[in-house]
Amino acid sequence: MNHDTLTVIGAGTMGHGIAQVAAMAGYETRLFDLEPEALEAAQVRIASNLAKGIKRGKVDPKEMERTRDALSMTTDLAEATNGASVVIEAVPEKLSLKQNLLLECANLTSHGVLLASNTSSLSISRIAQKVPSPERVVGMHFFNPVHIMELVEIVQGEETSSETVERARTLTKHLGKTPIVVKDSPGFASSRLGVAIGLEAIRMVEEGVASPEDIDTAMMLGYRYPVGPLRLGDLVGLDVRLDIAQHLFEELNSPRFKPPALLEQMVREGKLGKKSGEGFYRWED
Ligand code: NAD
Repeated sequence: MNHDTLTVIGAGTMGHGIAQVAAMAGYETRLFDLEPEALEAAQVRIASNLAKGIKRGKVDPKEMERTRDALSMTTDLAEATNGASVVIEAVPEKLSLKQNLLLECANLTSHGVLLASNTSSLSISRIAQKVPSPERVVGMHFFNPVHIMELVEIVQGEETSSETVERARTLTKHLGKTPIVVKDSPGFASSRLGVAIGLEAIRMVEEGVASPEDIDTAMMLGYRYPVGPLRLGDLVGLDVRLDIAQHLFEELNSPRFKPPALLEQMVREGKLGKKSGEGFYRWED
């Protein structure tokens, strides 16, 4: 049993998952959100994740009770952070929101408390800018769905100390995940590489090199990808892909990330992938 207290801020798609894995790993876990409805929804999602895990033989039924006991929810930030050794924020992707929230958390906690952000695209150095002790701020980029995906990108900002990186790495392992350490650069490791391959695959469709199915099969059978880059784009959402490509194109100033005309056209036509029923593939319910 771990006696450390871990606070998760924001109980949405990512926050509820991070809270679940922390509680399952034995941390006394506090989940904070401004909206009581978000906390209620998180509780339902966690119970459903655990129930599915039990059904599939991945979770011991006793774990469900232990997880429930380890997890508490609150709409009071001071209560949520009181006595915590780690705070992980998973609020919406807005720089000023994250900056102000981390400043508030820094004021509520002592210097030894690790402050982590689950940002998927913002600079950790900028998120840490307002915090008086930025050496304790680090990126911990979890993947969706958190209770299933194994990777955590640990992002070292300009001021993040190596001790903080080491603590984040140890914490990641305690949560049953695999850490990688990345410099604070746009797209970190995963998005930069994943998006570059995804965009090249779209350019190949544009040039008529092969069909989407055959390009995906090339990567699945030739490189053991579990899912091809075009199908993955459909699953993520082509509008989301376009936004990330535009962001990386501006930040890295590289033609590699210039959004292909075909991607822009598909988004304009509402072909967004699975969520709209059509992308590079047709999706039926
Ligand atoms: P979400 O919209 O599902 O959840 C955000 C939650 O934060 C909501 O419950 C909202 O009520 C709450 N919130 C808003 N302002 C708050 C505040 N001031 N204090 C406390 N709670 C507040 O968002 P999400 O998809 O979980 O994304 C959260 C973060 O995780 C973002 O930075 C995002 O970039 C990152 N991320 C998302 C994914 C993904 O697939 N969704 C993957 C990796 C990283």
